[in-house]
Formats: sequence, C-alpha cells, structure tokens
Amino acid sequence: MEFSSKLLENAVNEMSQLPGIGKRTALRLVLHMLKQPKEQTQKLASSLTKMREEINFCANCHNISDTKLCEICANPRRDEQLVCVVEDIRDVMAIENTSQYRGHYHVLGGKISPMDGIGPGDLTIPSLVEKVKTGNIRELIFALSSTMEGDTTNFYIYKQIESYSIITTTIARGISVGDELEYADEVTLGRSILHRIPFESSLKSL
Ligand SMILES: [Zn+2]
Repeated sequence: MEFSSKLLENAVNEMSQLPGIGKRTALRLVLHMLKQPKEQTQKLASSLTKMREEINFCANCHNISDTKLCEICANPRRDEQLVCVVEDIRDVMAIENTSQYRGHYHVLGGKISPMDGIGPGDLTIPSLVEKVKTGNIRELIFALSSTMEGDTTNFYIYKQIESYSIITTTIARGISVGDELEYADEVTLGRSILHRIPFESSLKSL
C-alpha cells in the first residue's frame, strides 16, 4: 500500500496491529476519523491510554476491575465456595449474562499452550491452587473452551488439586467441542452450567 502521507501511513500501521484488522480496514477507520471532529479521536486516544495505565485486576479472582475487589467478589450474596474457572473476562461476561450462576470466578488469563510458549506459571494457576489449599472452596467448575489447550489446562489444574477434598465439575457440553464460551447463546450456556457433570466422567469420555 502506497501512502501520500507518512502520518497517515503510521496511523494505518498501528491500527492494523489489532487482531482482525487488515491494512484496508485500518485505512477505512483512519479516514473515518479524519472526517470526524478532532475531539472524537482525542477521546478515543485518551480512553485507551487511561485504560492501559490504570487497569486493575481483582485481587481475588483476577478479573479486570476498577476496584481492588471486583463487584462479584465483593457481593456477600454470591457463593464464594463455588468457583468457576474461566479463561478471561469475556467468559465471565457470557456466564453472567445467563443469570444462572451465583458463585465466584477464577480468571486464568489464558490457557496452557506450549506452542505459544504459555506455561502454567504465566497464568493465575498458582493462586487458584493456593485458594484450594486454604480449604475455602467447596466446588470448582471447569468452564474452559473444549479445545486441546482448554483440556490440557483443565487436566493440569485437576492434577494439582486432586488430593484435596473438593468437588470438581465441568460444564455440560451443550457447547460443542472447540466452541468458545462467548459465542454460545445464553440459554445453552446457562443450561451447561446448571447441568454440569463431575470432571472425572468427562475424562472417561475422552
Ligand atoms: Zn473478583
């Protein structure tokens, strides 16, 4: 792509670093911004900068939060002994949308993926294992997507906590293999949580 302006080219290059945004889309977005009032671009830039600099993670569940403890962890009506293990904030939002779950979450921040160089230490697995050790968890629900990375991560965590007397379950697979949680419709996902099955029986079906 040949540009008549270095300024335009830089902006397009930065924009096209985002996932799913190719050079053409980036150019369309940048040209759109040029047609809008300057303040619009300033608002966008400052909200991104502010988010990046001030973002905070809940001290308990590691979800993105503006406060030390997120609203879910700070809510006394939620069952803190029931913990749902998810990959990131999108899964928390998807499950919250079902209105079927009243427990806490534990946000891993990703899945174990040796291909991408992501090991257990890069995720919040150590703090989850610590939580289990303190005896404050009654049931752990694995709700990672059913991909090879998701299954590997579930199994790794399961092995770490197997010897502690807690119930481990996994969401029922109304969600087909490989599906991401965030794409499941609310009714299907809600049912998958209500009809969760013991984690051990999900291993036998592999
Ligand atoms: Zn939290």
